[in-house]
Amino acid sequence: QGGIKIAMLSVEQASKHYEKNGATVKALDGVSLSIEPGEFVVVRGPSGSGKTTLLLLAGALLPPGSGEVLFENQNVYSMSREQRANLRATSVGFVFQQFNLIPYLSVLDNVLAPSLANPDPQAAQQAESLLERFNLGGRTSHLPAELSTGERQRVGLARALLKRPRLLLADEPTGNLDEDNAQTVLKSLADFAAEGGAVLMVTHSREAATYGHRAINLSQGKIVT
Ligand code: ADP
Repeated sequence: QGGIKIAMLSVEQASKHYEKNGATVKALDGVSLSIEPGEFVVVRGPSGSGKTTLLLLAGALLPPGSGEVLFENQNVYSMSREQRANLRATSVGFVFQQFNLIPYLSVLDNVLAPSLANPDPQAAQQAESLLERFNLGGRTSHLPAELSTGERQRVGLARALLKRPRLLLADEPTGNLDEDNAQTVLKSLADFAAEGGAVLMVTHSREAATYGHRAINLSQGKIVT
């Protein structure tokens, strides 16, 4: 047909093995997947099946033992360390289980922190409206320690969205949320994909999985159908 489609993220035959007490744990074992801009992909599988390892590989945080990870056709792990750090800073949003908020910065300053490298006069306003959307409008001057786990989770998501990444990686982003806040978060992820971003989301929740365009099931480091 002639048209060349460039995947946002392409994982090709990636494996990651660990030695543990003399045995080999195949955290990932020959996984291939490709995500286009605008796609919302859900990753499912039992505990220990390799979901977190896959997110770390996709996020330019963990090199595979073998195989390749391409971000818009660029080989992530043959880049220089600086190029990889730059890719993470500009193009990848992380919503992980440890929210990694800075304890002595307010909620608002935490959301703004990643954008300080590329200051935007509208960033503070955008940060406030994201916090408003996640029902944190009244909490912007609070410290992370003053928030509940679910509130901190939403601060982490606001921070990830504010920098307008190309790819958003989320590990159980609704794990600590009540139904209303979970829906708000999932809708935000769906909107992000509708605007051309790519989402890779690990979840155990059936309800959350319905927001994905397709699901990948992992079992013992392999994709199963
Ligand atoms: P999941 O996120 O699906 O629970 P993980 O990707 O965290 O799975 O882990 C997959 C397997 O790899 C597990 O058996 C885990 O114990 C093992 N594993 C992950 N990271 C390490 C590590 N740094 N050292 C040793 N084993 C690890």
